[in-house]
Amino acid sequence: MSRPPEADATDGDGATAASTDAEADPILSVDGVGKTFGGVTALDGVSFDVEPETLTGLIGPNGAGKSTTFNVISGAIEPDTGRVRFDGEDITGWAPHETSSRGLVRTFQIAREFETMTVLENMMLPPENQGGEAAWRAILPGVRDGVKEDEEELFERAWEMLEFFDIDHLALEEAGTLSGGQRKLLELARALMLDPEVLLLDEPFAGVNPSLEQDLLDRLEDLRDRGRTFLLVEHDMDLIMEHCERVIVMHQGRTLVTGSPDEVRSEERVIEAYLGGEVA
Ligand code: ADP
Ligand code: MG
Repeated sequence: MSRPPEADATDGDGATAASTDAEADPILSVDGVGKTFGGVTALDGVSFDVEPETLTGLIGPNGAGKSTTFNVISGAIEPDTGRVRFDGEDITGWAPHETSSRGLVRTFQIAREFETMTVLENMMLPPENQGGEAAWRAILPGVRDGVKEDEEELFERAWEMLEFFDIDHLALEEAGTLSGGQRKLLELARALMLDPEVLLLDEPFAGVNPSLEQDLLDRLEDLRDRGRTFLLVEHDMDLIMEHCERVIVMHQGRTLVTGSPDEVRSEERVIEAYLGGEVA
């Protein structure tokens, strides 16, 4: 009886523990969330976990409840039932500025009144002007640590972020003159100024041309590899399946399936949800 050559090279120690596939604690948990608007049930017991340092996709046909779920998580609306937990803490019902100062941030469209400001000025805007939020000084990471961040540091951070997204050459342009895709980059760069642990992105690729889309995906993957977590709503199934480690499928206000792209793809109910209803 001879051992295969590759086995000779193994020293045996530590080989047994390697197969244990322990899951990390979720960074974000949505548990039994329900929300009714008048007579319309938008969310009907939505539950899912988001694992840290992942690109997680949230998909589902139009009206499935994706944006409402984002609104509940970010604190823009309060759920009728259920809980939201972030990094071990119950944040249900927290105001948006509270969730964002805690490290859970959602991107906001550039409001009309800021279109005449430059890209750089938009980057340096207080968060209360980004999305109806408050307490800019309390949100800056430097201030969280008890050190006042001065204008110069803020400027440097803004500039680095613009370089990272390759829009530094547009720094002095008015935000209103940007293309749809450049605007998306600015929205994302601006959200990252808040130094979030988790970023909620609602259709970040809408109106973005394919080459810019690839750039943006590369940036997201880079940021994911450096420890950030993304929850991403996106119409393009192929994009989600190719780039997300985890996929959550919603349908009619409920979570239908959660799993890897392969698990989700082969799931009969997902196929039915898309074929049976309007394809998003
Ligand atoms: P998705 O983002 O998946 O397309 P939404 O979360 O926007 O879906 O909407 C889910 C359902 O809730 C839809 O039927 C929508 O019409 C309804 N809805 C969402 N927000 C409101 C609101 N503020 N008032 C009334 N109905 C709403
Ligand atoms: Mg939506």
